[in-house]
Amino acid sequence: MSTPVNVPEIFGSLVFDDATMKERLPKQTYKALKKTIQDGDVLDLNVANIVANAMKDWAVEKGATHYTHWFQPMTGITAEKHDSFINPTDDGRVIMEFSGKELIKGEPDASSFPSGGIRATFEARGYTAWDPTSYAFIKDGTLCIPTAFCSYTGEVLDKKTPLLRSMERISDEAVRVLRLFGDNETTRVVTTVGPEQEYFLIDKELYEQRKDLIYTGRTLFGAKAPKGQELEDHYFGVIRPRVVEFMADLDRELWKLGILAKTKHNEVAPAQHELAPIFTTTNLATDHNQLTMEIMKKTAEKHGMVCLLHEKPFAGVNGSGKHNNWSISTNTGKNLLNPGKMPAENTQFLLFLAAVVKGVDEYQDLLRISVASAGNDHRLGANEAPPAVISMFLGDELQAVIDSIVEGTEYSADGKRKMQLGSNVLPDFTKDTTDRNRTSPFAFTGNKFEFRMLGSALNIACPNIMLNTIVAEELSLFADELEKADDFDSAVKDIIKKAFTEHQRIIFNGDNYADEWLVEAERRGLSNLRSTPEAFSRYLTEKNVELFTKHKVYTEKELNARYEIMLENYSKVINIEAETMLDMAKKDILPSVSAYVRELTDTALSKKALSDTIPCDVEIELAEKLSKLNLCFSRKISALEEALIKAKDIDGVQALADFYQGTVFAAMSELRAVGDEMEINVSSDYWPYPSYGDMLFSI
Ligand code: ADP
Ligand code: MG
Repeated sequence: MSTPVNVPEIFGSLVFDDATMKERLPKQTYKALKKTIQDGDVLDLNVANIVANAMKDWAVEKGATHYTHWFQPMTGITAEKHDSFINPTDDGRVIMEFSGKELIKGEPDASSFPSGGIRATFEARGYTAWDPTSYAFIKDGTLCIPTAFCSYTGEVLDKKTPLLRSMERISDEAVRVLRLFGDNETTRVVTTVGPEQEYFLIDKELYEQRKDLIYTGRTLFGAKAPKGQELEDHYFGVIRPRVVEFMADLDRELWKLGILAKTKHNEVAPAQHELAPIFTTTNLATDHNQLTMEIMKKTAEKHGMVCLLHEKPFAGVNGSGKHNNWSISTNTGKNLLNPGKMPAENTQFLLFLAAVVKGVDEYQDLLRISVASAGNDHRLGANEAPPAVISMFLGDELQAVIDSIVEGTEYSADGKRKMQLGSNVLPDFTKDTTDRNRTSPFAFTGNKFEFRMLGSALNIACPNIMLNTIVAEELSLFADELEKADDFDSAVKDIIKKAFTEHQRIIFNGDNYADEWLVEAERRGLSNLRSTPEAFSRYLTEKNVELFTKHKVYTEKELNARYEIMLENYSKVINIEAETMLDMAKKDILPSVSAYVRELTDTALSKKALSDTIPCDVEIELAEKLSKLNLCFSRKISALEEALIKAKDIDGVQALADFYQGTVFAAMSELRAVGDEMEINVSSDYWPYPSYGDMLFSI
């Protein structure tokens, strides 16, 4: 097994973090840089030069030869272009150099990144700008500088910039509200996130035999294995030795990068696992989650496995999600979503809670949109993840507090506790009173909200941009009203009561997987956006555009671009899946079935030639059955091909995405059904791919 590790020693050893800065930078430079990090001041070029040089020296000592501006374009993954530190000298040698200018700003050719029409092709330049709030780190011998990415004309082309903007917004509005409560110490508020990440591990040799996994990340054909997850014997089960080694290695790699990997366990589906880090500020959590996904893939390869991050790699067993645990904290260390011992009397907490409840209700569509992707469409509403309907769960005790506010009655959690009210004897709000409903898309879990609709492959920036912005909006409306109020106490109570009364419909404590809930949700007027194209059709409504432009998180142009990029991406993903299915169907499956039928008929013929008395009904019946299925399969191939031809004539991103969702996807499902039926009936010697059983149970 693995050699012992000194965790505190390796933790953050590849990060140019605060401790390293302090150690390596002159005092004045360190101070100036800290000020930039904390207050967002512009970094002076002289300071940048000193920082860059220190960073380079540090990186070279750690074996780095290159640097890169590391950014998160709209592809959903990270991007990097490596430059070496070398600079030629007169004597034909080189020295290692890195300037402040190179640190602060890069100019990658942006023409091949999705821009949704923002960046005209004649102006291909894009800018990357250092985000000093996220530390530089070393990965694969390269110094990575976390950066934001925008077009030459200043429109953002990435996920990081709007995230930072949304964090600024919620900070400003939350501080405004805190001042009204007499808090004069807090100068900044940050949102914090701890994302729980699910993934599958399968054997690399098997993976390489499946075109669908290679091209699309999920299986497009595949009959169910005799055993799935029905025995519930995998969740929290003993971790297999090969996976243990992978996880130990993964932890070590993540720790070196300063990522607080904390919890690991087996998940519900066979071959499925989860990793959760300790929470941190939202921008760091986002960078770290992107890195975590990348390191998971690399580490798996080292162990002869492949890490699948797709939301639904296998039909019939659970897919993978990501739980976005989100809260709001002050720079003085207070969690603003902590109800304390007496939530009913904690007006400040109730006001923040009211802002979240009101925001989630008013902007349900945006939250749904923020988790929409072709992959996640397989999960939402499939009784393994929350449905596509957004609702909130607050837990029994908090619910009782809210009910009493709405009804104007005195709060009592239960008879026993009521007698003790008045003294501080109520137990802390603990998880066991709030974390019971695992089917809720948006659950209060003690001192944070857990948004459970995210797909495993998603960049968590998107949902957090939404959360930060909608809560900033509600807080700003509250602050507007409260700043004008003559009687602060009664004004706060009114706002809280009004918000909980008007937005009760978003709160649901029952089973979100039940069919009755969908009926009830419709009655309540909650939106149920079933697919990505349907969700995105709501993106650019007046209400949403107003929200983002008011808070300067996106301009209208940037919103339009994002809408186009997301829908285009959806259509492209389905198109690749359809093309891959056709390739597999025509080149592998149909010919294999045909060959097996020939073997069956040959066998029948030779039996007959030998003697009339050897029964050959089995071969004949099976050959007949498979011949019919294969004919049907061939017709479904043609139907899918025709759908793809029709798609070529469709104009407009929305219409095209709708067509891919309604028509192409349906044709794919029909083709798959016949393919899977044949798999069940064909000898494994003839079936061209490893089976579900092979993949899910071989590690
Ligand atoms: P679960 O019961 O959902 O499996 P845990 O209680 O272990 O989860 O925590 C899930 C995640 O929530 C962890 O990543 C944890 O760090 C994170 N978390 C805890 N407190 C906060 C907070 N204040 N803000 C954001 N995330 C938090
Ligand atoms: Mg969780």
